[in-house]
Amino acid sequence: MNWREMAACRLEDPELFFPVSDDGLSLLQVERAKQVCHRCPVLRECRRWALRYGETDGVWGGLTPGQRRALVQAHRI
Ligand code: SF4
Repeated sequence: MNWREMAACRLEDPELFFPVSDDGLSLLQVERAKQVCHRCPVLRECRRWALRYGETDGVWGGLTPGQRRALVQAHRI
């Protein structure tokens, strides 16, 4: 079974995971998306996929694009 079939977000509005900015109401949106991720049974698989394929937009695996970039940079050193 593909990990995506077990994703907690598959029943959510996809827009929730793609906030339009990094401030204001978008911060609340990011927190709501992360709440979904943190109860997701495939968080680790999703996060690994987003990091491996360099996903640049949206919340994946409970991480924002900036958090993923920071992780990648930290592991390059
Ligand atoms: S970790 Fe978040 S974005 Fe990834 S599959 Fe689960 S709910 Fe969806």
